[in-house]
Amino acid sequence: MNNPTIIPLSVPNLSLDILDNVKETIETGWVSTGAGARFVKDFEEKIAKYVGVERAVATQSGTAGLHLALRVLGVEEGDEIIVPTLTFIAAVNPVRYMGAEPVFMDCDDSLNMDMDKLEDFLENQCNFIDGKVINKLTKKQIKVILAVHVFGNPLNMEKLIELRDKYNLKVIEDATEALGSYYLEGKYAGRHCGTIGDIGVYSFNANKIITTGGGGMVVSNNLDFLEKVSFLGAQAKTNPLYFVHDEVGYNYRMTNIQAAFGTDQIDRLESFIETKVRNYELYKEGIKNIEGLQLLGFRKDARANHWFYSIIVDKERYGIDRDRLLKKLNDNNIQTRPLWGLIHKQKPYLDNQGYRLKRAEFYEKNLINVPCSSNLSEEDIEVVTELLRRFGK
Ligand SMILES: *Cc1c(COP(=O)(O)O)cnc(C)c1O
Repeated sequence: MNNPTIIPLSVPNLSLDILDNVKETIETGWVSTGAGARFVKDFEEKIAKYVGVERAVATQSGTAGLHLALRVLGVEEGDEIIVPTLTFIAAVNPVRYMGAEPVFMDCDDSLNMDMDKLEDFLENQCNFIDGKVINKLTKKQIKVILAVHVFGNPLNMEKLIELRDKYNLKVIEDATEALGSYYLEGKYAGRHCGTIGDIGVYSFNANKIITTGGGGMVVSNNLDFLEKVSFLGAQAKTNPLYFVHDEVGYNYRMTNIQAAFGTDQIDRLESFIETKVRNYELYKEGIKNIEGLQLLGFRKDARANHWFYSIIVDKERYGIDRDRLLKKLNDNNIQTRPLWGLIHKQKPYLDNQGYRLKRAEFYEKNLINVPCSSNLSEEDIEVVTELLRRFGK
């Protein structure tokens, strides 16, 4: 750890082995994108193989990947997209980039989108006419459900796909936090988060489970979608030689330097997850006897990547509330943070519809995330759990 006195929340776990790759980008001059960016190709192939799909397309960021996903699924200005309110705002902003509007759903106790409320919303708050879902309140068409595997905990894809098919919708899986998570049982046993919906997106931002400094990856079982993602992300060159463009594209490609990090990081992912699972168990053991603290679980019928750890603080039983605990931990050089501010309460989205939002409010108030980097030591965790014990009753 760089500064032995601070235990950070979530930092990259990088190896100097990457320098060989970086050296190659310098020596060959291929630092950017394009045909000679061999690390991009390697990284795409490695991710595709790892999550079990035919092809993956690298992007500049996860956000860019989500933007392209919405575009490829045919979202138009004035459409509505169902999104969770409990997530990082990067999952929702691309909806607005498209001129579309989000409709916010609540979470359940897994922190993922509440499928019962989603079903209730589609059944009772929408009309289903000529294969289209029309929101009764706004009269707008809902085209896509964008769901997030929050903190790497796999969401209920069986139910989500059932609803998608029933209502002729499309599903984008925001798997930016869930690389390495897959189902062990049920219809999707063996399938990775991100590979079940129409399009899935991963992120390699610095706080994610593996990093390229910044970057993303789009996957799909529909190769036409991926071809379109690749095309639009590279300025939509209809004729690359004569620079003919029939559509408005983006500069959303991953650079060879980013991918030079990625090809090394992906090889270490399984070992990162091993450490994250071990550390999670240490936290669990460490706080199990602390009155008023509860470590949130991950799905038992899946191999979750255990990206982030969440603790719920019961003020009455623990003695102090979440915000006091947060401050005390940060004052003691333990980097902890609250849950994201719910998105339906953020200024750009105050006028958007939210449906029966309730559990999310509870978690927003009472949850903290504790240090979870894959390079945390057992001693680090002892330090944190010891403080958690001391600050309680
Ligand atoms: C990190 C994250 C993103 C965005 O990924 P970037 O690569 O940072 O653009 C989107 N959605 C969620 C839920 C995230 O956690």
